[in-house]
Amino acid sequence: MIKLHDLYFKPFISEQEVDDIVQRMVDEIAIDLQDEVPVFVGILNGSFMFVSDFVKKYPKPCEVTFIKLASYEGLKSTEDIHRLIGLTQDLSGRKVIILEDIIDSGNTLEEVHRIFENEGVDELKIATLFYKPEAYKKDYKLHYIGKEIPNKFIVGYGLDYNGLGRDLPEIYQLKTTQHMTNLVLFGPPGAGKGTQANFLKETYNLVHISTGDVFRYNIKNETALGMLAKSYMDKGELVPDQVTIDMLSAEVEKNAGANGFIFDGFPRTNAQAKALDNLMENKDSQINAMIALEVDDEVLVERLLERGKTSGRKDDADESIIRNRITEYYNKTAILKEYYATQNKYYGVDGVGSISDITERLKVVINTL
Ligand code: AMP
Repeated sequence: MIKLHDLYFKPFISEQEVDDIVQRMVDEIAIDLQDEVPVFVGILNGSFMFVSDFVKKYPKPCEVTFIKLASYEGLKSTEDIHRLIGLTQDLSGRKVIILEDIIDSGNTLEEVHRIFENEGVDELKIATLFYKPEAYKKDYKLHYIGKEIPNKFIVGYGLDYNGLGRDLPEIYQLKTTQHMTNLVLFGPPGAGKGTQANFLKETYNLVHISTGDVFRYNIKNETALGMLAKSYMDKGELVPDQVTIDMLSAEVEKNAGANGFIFDGFPRTNAQAKALDNLMENKDSQINAMIALEVDDEVLVERLLERGKTSGRKDDADESIIRNRITEYYNKTAILKEYYATQNKYYGVDGVGSISDITERLKVVINTL
């Protein structure tokens, strides 16, 4: 991810892919033009890299010139196109190919057609590296299109955001949702994650997803997912990754407009942590912190046995199943501390004390994020 001025951008099209697209366009145009010596007209500023790479690859003689137009102000393509440098040579009777970095609204293209209206060129063709079909509002034919892209703001490879980003060799896309707070509440079974999540979700207006709760809901409603999960849960073992990941993704998708999430009981394995990163990346977001409630094993066993008297949970009722859950935690889950610690996202919090004291300790951490 990169930051330009006040905005964040994520990698979108690699340098290699851009290069492949340019090569493909060169091949196509060279075949169409045969032995004509074309004049390639780049539209400055955005197209300078594209034109440079394009003509270097072009296998036959050609001429290159530029016109300079300006249309963008910040993130918005304006109707008002300024002609800063027009045509400086006579192109009558020539085959002209416009090389554009990107066509979105088509306003710049309209101005290009106006410029060439009375030039008497033999042929005027448009080649654009990127094209946003959802944004295009004109009828001018686009003869060569490198790649169709969604209607999102991009920078790099000549394209800028308020002057920055033109120098990047690859393309980045604007990140759209940057305001989510996503927390992983971590700790062994019985550490108090569910209890604390209930307070924190109110304070920070977050959606709380407990994978254990979702599984139990499915078991209660006798869904296929519930039946599958039950066999593992009753023994205190982990439900297989893919089942859990699919379920978690569906829960996240159900809350598309959330301010952020508290993940409780997820991730529990490395594969789940990676899947969670991908899921957040797709939402243009990320996990901000893993906050771990640290509690001694014997305290956990005591707490869970106590809870088992009223929770009705099979896996709380039997000390050997409880110990198996704690063992599963140390065998498979505890390693995730490392995963988040290496990203400087791990925060340990003492999970022994009154519920409200522990909530306060958690808030101190969250408020620093
Ligand atoms: P919990 O309510 O978090 O203690 O979870 C209860 C049980 O649900 C666990 O012992 C597992 O069998 C299952 N479970 C919950 N979350 C996950 C997960 N992320 N991965 C695999 N199994 C899970």
